[in-house]
Amino acid sequence: MNCIFCRIIKGEISSKKVYEDDRVYAFEDINPQAPVHTLIVPKKHISTILDTSEGDNELIGHMFQVANKIARQKGIAERGFRLVMNCNHESGQTVFHVHLHLLGGRLMHWPPG
Ligand code: 5GP
Ligand code: ZN
Repeated sequence: MNCIFCRIIKGEISSKKVYEDDRVYAFEDINPQAPVHTLIVPKKHISTILDTSEGDNELIGHMFQVANKIARQKGIAERGFRLVMNCNHESGQTVFHVHLHLLGGRLMHWPPG
């Protein structure tokens, strides 16, 4: 398997690390869409959110707790931020290893593009 995020987690591709623990790795998006754009990625390879099962609930919940922690660290928690997880083609998913986008530091619009 030649998954770019698995390679980033292994350190085979360099990244700007924001947070790491036994289950999750977070790093700065290479093409930021906001002043804060961090990706929170499970170390376990899961292609899309559709491929998760009940057994992954704790892991998925943990990703959100990590996002909260990073949002607070980066000083955007009170102003507000957006968490996005794209799934499959029409959402714009381009990397097929589940990841949560943490976006903030500017006013967000709705509906999203
Ligand atoms: P998706 O479109 O799948 O929801 O999001 C994939 C994200 O991964 C994009 O925002 C893209 O900029 C980011 N990305 C793709 N390749 C790399 C990479 O090699 N390094 C980093 N840091 N981000 C990447
Ligand atoms: Zn992967």
